[in-house]
Amino acid sequence: METSTYQLRCRECGKTWGNQPRSICEDCFSPLEITYDYDSIRQRISRDLITSRAPNLWRYRELLPLPAGYLPSLPVGYTPLVSVPRLGDQIGSRRLFVKNDAVCLPTLSFKDRVVAVALANARSFGFKTVACSSTGNLANAVAAQAAREGFKAWIFIPSDLEPAKILGTQVFGAEVVRINGSYDHVNRLCSQIADEHLPGEPGSGERGSDERGSDEHGWGFVNVNLRPYYAEGSKTVGYEIAEQLGWKLPDNVVVPMAGGSLITKIKKAFDELILLGLVDPKPVKFFGAQASGCSPISTAVKQYCDEIEPQRPKTIARSLAIGNPADGHYALQAIGKSGGWAEDVSDHEVVQSIQLLAESEGIFTETAGGVTVGTARKLIHQDRILPDETTVLCITGNGLKTTDVLADAYEAETPIAPKLAEFEAYLAAKAASLPAAFVAAADSSTAAVA
Ligand SMILES: *Cc1c(COP(=O)(O)O)cnc(C)c1O
Ligand SMILES: [Zn+2]
Repeated sequence: METSTYQLRCRECGKTWGNQPRSICEDCFSPLEITYDYDSIRQRISRDLITSRAPNLWRYRELLPLPAGYLPSLPVGYTPLVSVPRLGDQIGSRRLFVKNDAVCLPTLSFKDRVVAVALANARSFGFKTVACSSTGNLANAVAAQAAREGFKAWIFIPSDLEPAKILGTQVFGAEVVRINGSYDHVNRLCSQIADEHLPGEPGSGERGSDERGSDEHGWGFVNVNLRPYYAEGSKTVGYEIAEQLGWKLPDNVVVPMAGGSLITKIKKAFDELILLGLVDPKPVKFFGAQASGCSPISTAVKQYCDEIEPQRPKTIARSLAIGNPADGHYALQAIGKSGGWAEDVSDHEVVQSIQLLAESEGIFTETAGGVTVGTARKLIHQDRILPDETTVLCITGNGLKTTDVLADAYEAETPIAPKLAEFEAYLAAKAASLPAAFVAAADSSTAAVA
């Protein structure tokens, strides 16, 4: 049998654990992550090899934990990195880019990336049922890709999620379990279920006949027992940013934080590209973005605190509403060591920022993207991000999933008959109302200047 170029390793004690559905070190109870044999990878990988492949995240396959011979069935990832000069004008950056995972396929958020990698491993570990605890986007991604790959899916969500995210899970035929509680309650329950449904230790035979799962291998919870594999999928955001900047690293990245995993994995991606000689070494500052109503990580950063104080989430940015972030500690480290910072914005600023990105660049993001844009604006105002630096904003989800937050922002126009005369009357009415509005605005601005 071919030996794998990757395996689980404890982030604290360094003990290696091979490849198995497990996320915690049994010796010291710290989280596990995937480590790679970079010397062997260095000999097989090059920019030319990567760019010769199809534009999806599998082009970085040597740097992902994929079982030997794995044949992906979906072209996930490789979303546009777009220059956003009009947004830059508005918020004070001359070299601003958006990494647009609002159009990630198949379910319009960056969670498609993590699920793609998790399910590759769920298959090789023998799971027939996959599951997750989710703030919404992960639910969509697991349900869709499970359908595509022939897994059964069990999805656990807080009961107050956006209707579009619930429907966008049910439509794929997944079992959706709504929990009266926050994401943190949902996640704790899933850890308990995952423990109950885990296969026994190899050779221990302890599961035997009292198996409670619906299949003999238990359930593959993508963000619980498969979490180390899942998390590696986030690195592809980092590889793509570097490749799309012409194999260069940016000066700054602004990343929305929920559990805090994505920001640490973009950093891991950049570090790996440097280690493998695929980009020139360069310091990159990592900036974390949260909603003020759920800001355990940004609060710790702003208070120069090493410990995360869990919070009870209260924000419209539900996809980021994790009060007790699993990777908060490592996110703090990544931000601190890079010389970056973190900020948070109010729900009002989230809505304004969604509108700002849409009106200036034609990109419709969900609440998490509003958090990112609003936070970037704040960081530029604070001179923590400078106008001539290359700055990438990670837009991680699509606005069509969270239209409820805009419900009060726009009035429904009164319909008119399909007649030219009606339209002309409509225009005349509009024109009559416009000058008055302009006059009022001009008056108040002169007053403000005076
Ligand atoms: C899950 C999610 C994030 C944050 O991911 P973490 O890795 O948990 O920090 C950001 N944006 C969106 C839209 C998400 O769904
Ligand atoms: Zn350990």
